[in-house]
Amino acid sequence: MAKQTSEIVKQSLDVLMEDKSFLPELTGESRAKAFASLVAILSTPNQVHKSFLRISLENGHVVRIPSFRVQHNNALGPYKGGIRFHETVQEDEVINLAALMTLKNALHDVPFGGGKGGVIVNPREQSIKELHLICKKYVQYFSDSLGPDKDIPAPDVGTSEREMDWMMAEYKSIRPGQAYFGSFTGKSIENGGSLGRREATGKGVYFSLRYMLHQFLNDHKSLLTSTNNRFAKTVLAFENKPLQIAIQGFGNVGSVAALEAYHCSYLQNKVVSVSDRNVMLYNSEGLDIPTLVKYTMAHNGDLPINEAELNEHGIKATIHSNYEILSLNVDVLILAALEDQIHSENVNDVKAQIIVEGANAPVTAEADEIINQQGKIIIPDILANAGGVIVSYFEWLQGRETQFHTEDEIIHMLYNKMKTTMEMILPRFFGDPFPLRQNCYIHSVMRLSTVLFKQGKLY
Ligand code: NAD
Repeated sequence: MAKQTSEIVKQSLDVLMEDKSFLPELTGESRAKAFASLVAILSTPNQVHKSFLRISLENGHVVRIPSFRVQHNNALGPYKGGIRFHETVQEDEVINLAALMTLKNALHDVPFGGGKGGVIVNPREQSIKELHLICKKYVQYFSDSLGPDKDIPAPDVGTSEREMDWMMAEYKSIRPGQAYFGSFTGKSIENGGSLGRREATGKGVYFSLRYMLHQFLNDHKSLLTSTNNRFAKTVLAFENKPLQIAIQGFGNVGSVAALEAYHCSYLQNKVVSVSDRNVMLYNSEGLDIPTLVKYTMAHNGDLPINEAELNEHGIKATIHSNYEILSLNVDVLILAALEDQIHSENVNDVKAQIIVEGANAPVTAEADEIINQQGKIIIPDILANAGGVIVSYFEWLQGRETQFHTEDEIIHMLYNKMKTTMEMILPRFFGDPFPLRQNCYIHSVMRLSTVLFKQGKLY
């Protein structure tokens, strides 16, 4: 299992407590008290709303479906986070994901707090009519807590722009005459969604890699060469080196990251392998990603699974078991499928020197520690996969102003925001002993602590 967010928050606060240059106004007993308050505030949610949605199924049965909305912290702005529809949803998991949203928004200076929703349902087993009813009931039950200035949900696993459109429509009818465009993000373009939102996470994931290996390496070479930091050596070894990339997961995040790599003119990279729920494809000369994307779009999101399908579409690749992707001899491994993929049992098979977390928590806590000791770099989820929430913020702003940007403008704004974060974090990362994930958490906790202190909340 990935380390619980509350544990990493506590570790970050321990580091900051000892750093007397941070919040120097706080000394002695008042410092100890303030940090104890911070642990309490940041490691528990402000509210956990629970309900059992009463749904009348098409077969005439009435069921009560457990559902949650967790509001972790709103020190930086309204709560923000997706709603997950999945049969394995658990209250603790939703609380943890809400905390992660608080920290992700703080890291990227997005003026939102953290929230998350969950409904214990398998959406593939419900009819469209039933899903529509679940969405409407969810908004009805939680409507007092939601709103453009209170708590703004978005899609997550099992939900998409369709569900956000339905939910926004229900919100609009419950609150007639009030602003509603900003009540949900991840909506369809026709209903106030933002251009570029669908691609934002995958583009941001690839940007985090190319920024580190291209722009940062070029602009900060003297910093990297003048330190004994083990991670700096890892990055320097990639200077002007052609890169082989493997990508686990070829859905929304993985396929967009693959296309970005394929078209990238900054790095000499080849995507030599991609995988999905069924299969792994490999070609040491590089895969034809645009053709694979076209194929998956016409085949329910799935990659070709046999020679006949590859030949029919002129795709040159060999077919392997999907788990083999984790141990391939490549430079970079992008994880864009599921959580807990690299764990204590397979971590020593991983050969990639750089691992990018497109998915949330794809590396367990034990594996994370081993990878760090080996001097390999993990670009963590909180940094790499924030493109979705950053463009959600742009969607929320556009909805308030009813002025919409072009896709190019949105992607430009996304890269600027991620660049600002990386410019702030990377010099520290290469200059101190902490891995990148811990560095990101420390920064988020610093921002939140400063705001809470200045708001007079630490007593
Ligand atoms: P998706 O459903 O579009 O794609 C998931 C992909 O993973 C599919 O290609 C699927 O076949 C593949 N997959 C499933 N099991 C696999 C396995 N065992 N081995 C290899 N591949 C497997 O989902 P997505 O939107 O691309 O999201 C991917 C991950 O990124 C999820 O964990 C999600 O929570 C996270 N994430 C997504 C966004 C976003 O904006 N979409 C934002 C942040 C985080």
